[in-house]
Amino acid sequence: MTDKCTFHKQSAAHFYCQHCDTFYCDDCITIRKIDEYGGKKSYYFCPACNDQARMLSVGNMIDPFWKRLPKIFLYPIQPVPLILTIVLAALGALFPSTFLVKIVVAVLMIKYAFSVFLNTSQGSLKAPGFTWDLINADLKPIIQQYILIVALSFASGMVFLSLGPIAGYCFIAFSALVFPVIIMVQMATNSILHAINPMIFFPIIFRIGWPYLLMYLFLTFLYSAPMALLNVVPLENLPFNLVVFLFYFLSQYYTLVSYHLMGYVLLQYHDEIGYPVDYDFFIANRGGTPKKPLTEKQELDNAVTVLIKMGKYQQAIERLLPHIKGENVDPELSEKFLKLLRMTNDKKRSDIYAPRHLNLLVAKGKKQKAIDLFDEIKSNQEHLPDAKTVFTLASWYNSRSEYKKAMETYVYFINNFKKDEQCPEAYFNLAQLLHEKGGNTSKARQILKAIVKHYPHHPVSDDANKYLAKAA
Ligand SMILES: [Zn+2]
Ligand SMILES: [Zn+2]
Repeated sequence: MTDKCTFHKQSAAHFYCQHCDTFYCDDCITIRKIDEYGGKKSYYFCPACNDQARMLSVGNMIDPFWKRLPKIFLYPIQPVPLILTIVLAALGALFPSTFLVKIVVAVLMIKYAFSVFLNTSQGSLKAPGFTWDLINADLKPIIQQYILIVALSFASGMVFLSLGPIAGYCFIAFSALVFPVIIMVQMATNSILHAINPMIFFPIIFRIGWPYLLMYLFLTFLYSAPMALLNVVPLENLPFNLVVFLFYFLSQYYTLVSYHLMGYVLLQYHDEIGYPVDYDFFIANRGGTPKKPLTEKQELDNAVTVLIKMGKYQQAIERLLPHIKGENVDPELSEKFLKLLRMTNDKKRSDIYAPRHLNLLVAKGKKQKAIDLFDEIKSNQEHLPDAKTVFTLASWYNSRSEYKKAMETYVYFINNFKKDEQCPEAYFNLAQLLHEKGGNTSKARQILKAIVKHYPHHPVSDDANKYLAKAA
């Protein structure tokens, strides 16, 4: 069963908050990057209660391996592994009897296969590069794996000799069955003793359940496939070197598929196996299509959305509060804040905040939203927007040819901001509109005369005089 995000039923849950009993997807969770040991480490918090959230098993976040088998099978058909298998197979085919070449080919391939395994088990489904670091990588896990193979073969021999062929075959069948889990435990723990400990690997097989058998069957098929394939090809008609090439190529191809598959199963069941997966790496690499980190605003937005969906309006308001103070407030956040105040029926606070939001909308040039909001709040005489805001609104109406609204807005301005330096201009604009659009020339003249009388030194006074002469 896959747990889904409480708020996005399409998205797999990545985190769980015990306190809120809520599942979060990677978009809903709150990430905090904290400087640690010279690097940044991510911590994940519940957006609702701020408790640290528990990461779920990656098995909950990815497709189960049995749904991905075709893709897993095609894994080596990516540029790096494909070129590498072709080059190494060609090398092997050109020098079929040179021991040194055989060793080099085998070591390079197994090193790359290990890198595939590690990358996959940490969540990167894109084939790793073939780098110098990889060539220099520690041989220890590879040697451990050879020791395991030798030890199991030796043990089979011993069982054959001491208990007879039936017991011997049974032991071989048993070893083959547990071999994949032994390899996975060895990779997860870096220890041979842990890997061959039945007290460790048996419980893991049972925790994985039937899918383990499915993986085993698929691996068996993979190991026998190259031989089966070469059996159908009429080898006797082909040049010897080509046969060697095909053999190398196919067995390397299948090696990569099987290491990728084991890595994927380890990733899917890492919780059951006790293998730690670095969530940051997983999220940055999944499928080779890294997830873009969210911006601070997106993250805040997501957290507020979660709180709203949970009905925790008050907490959402508190979360937004620091972001709607000071300069350069984001109008979207401000709008959310106002909406929340209205949702909580906090009339007093929303009456106070609405004019501030209107100032912001006008300053940011959000014409329609500003006009709509002004319509809603202009009857409230207790809390006013800034004079500058109202003046701009009036000019917007004017430029939209909504002259009646423009005149009303200039009147609103004049009534409320008598002492403002833009008041003479407001009078003048109003007079102009009355004359040109309102058909009320006498009122216009009255206003123009009043301008000349009350603001004799204001530049608009000259304009008024000229206009009076014109509008006679
Ligand atoms: Zn979500
Ligand atoms: Zn919580």
